[in-house]
Amino acid sequence: MKIAVDPGHGMSNSSPGVFDPGAEHVSRGVKFREADTTLNYGLVLKDVLRARGIEVFMTRENATDPAPVGRRAGNAERANCNLFISLHLNDSDSASANGLEVLFRRDEVQPFAQAMHDALIAATGLTPRNTKKRLDLAVLKFDGPAILIELGFISNERDLQELLDTHVRSVMCETITDVAQRQARPAHAAAPGRTMRASRAAVAAAAASTGMSPHYHLPAFARDLLGPASGVPWSQAKPISGMNFYSGIVTDSFHQFPSAVFYECKFAIDNDGVGGNEGGDPHHRSDTSLHDTADAPLDARFVPYIVLPKPSPNPSRPKWSALGIELGDLGVCFFKDGRSCAAILGDKGPNFKLGEGSMEAARELGINPDPNVGGIGPDEVPPGVIHIVFPNSRNLLSKGASGMPRTADTIDTLRTRAMALLDQFKQSAAPTPSPLRAAAPARAARTAGGARPRAARAVKRAKRARAKRK
Ligand SMILES: [Zn+2]
Repeated sequence: MKIAVDPGHGMSNSSPGVFDPGAEHVSRGVKFREADTTLNYGLVLKDVLRARGIEVFMTRENATDPAPVGRRAGNAERANCNLFISLHLNDSDSASANGLEVLFRRDEVQPFAQAMHDALIAATGLTPRNTKKRLDLAVLKFDGPAILIELGFISNERDLQELLDTHVRSVMCETITDVAQRQARPAHAAAPGRTMRASRAAVAAAAASTGMSPHYHLPAFARDLLGPASGVPWSQAKPISGMNFYSGIVTDSFHQFPSAVFYECKFAIDNDGVGGNEGGDPHHRSDTSLHDTADAPLDARFVPYIVLPKPSPNPSRPKWSALGIELGDLGVCFFKDGRSCAAILGDKGPNFKLGEGSMEAARELGINPDPNVGGIGPDEVPPGVIHIVFPNSRNLLSKGASGMPRTADTIDTLRTRAMALLDQFKQSAAPTPSPLRAAAPARAARTAGGARPRAARAVKRAKRARAKRK
């Protein structure tokens, strides 16, 4: 077990080179800073955890190490932590507001947050403020159980005096450790957890020898399915950092392969086309840039389509057309919980944004398809939706009366073709027979046999997942 301890605020937390003190409070002429108290608690917590044989990763160890808030969760993931505990103090304009609360992001983490809250209240006698779900906190995006403990109110005299008491501090750190150990134990003992951790390390090691950008990390949901051991030919990948200018892209996720492009991004809901505007969206357009076989706009309620940014007037921006990508090309999207979706590039969007798709595509990916409140926002990634798009896979008919490009694909053919393209793409990494391997047939067979069924299995899994949802 390895636990990330995150003492809130500190150097470069919110802006580079600037110390972020967090909340401040003057008590009897002395100024107290949240960042100092959280660091004191963090360092004691580290010692308690280590004394019990638990590995610790500190997001910051002192007041001078730069620790931007947006990188803390990712750094803990790369350090292979299984649990993330962030320490903060609350603040209020009202001097009477007091008590302890525990914040979490994902519903499955709520029981852990509740256990932490209840144990700390029992140990300290602070006022219970319960647990709260928060989607806006970067540190809670850690991919594993993550909680943020608001230890008490810096603005409340009684809370502050309690928190400054070294006895209270050690009791709280012992309690946090107890609950963290209980939380980690079942997961630690379970075989799937161990397998996942082992493969994560293996994947990280494998990634080091591939063309994957060293600054990009596959989200947890994609590590087995699309990692270097999956058949995706990462050794042939070329990162295109010029794509990072798009709003909504996960930085450094854009990669070009010989037969596909790969990127991870937000997922806004597009309801343009003939249907899908029951909610009266003011941004609704009744046309899509691609038309169907009958020269009608696509229906966002039924056609799984994704959106291609319009060409940028800035000539220094990478051009999708130069990558062989145009309307009508096919792709496959992946998201959490084993969700995937075959999709067609069916509409064009703003030239500076990436990551938009139809209501049907969202539905298949397990994303709220409501055009007004659904989707995954740019501040909610990573993890985003992984897109694998196949250049020159479009099957266009001659233009009809509308003058718009027209696809020959139906919903069925786009799905079959996209999944077949994905299958080919994942098998393209399999080693081709060479004279050396011919001389050692047993070894060659094992290598090829190892890669191919894996890719096929992944595609089958994706197909099964789709079939189940129907
Ligand atoms: Zn804070």
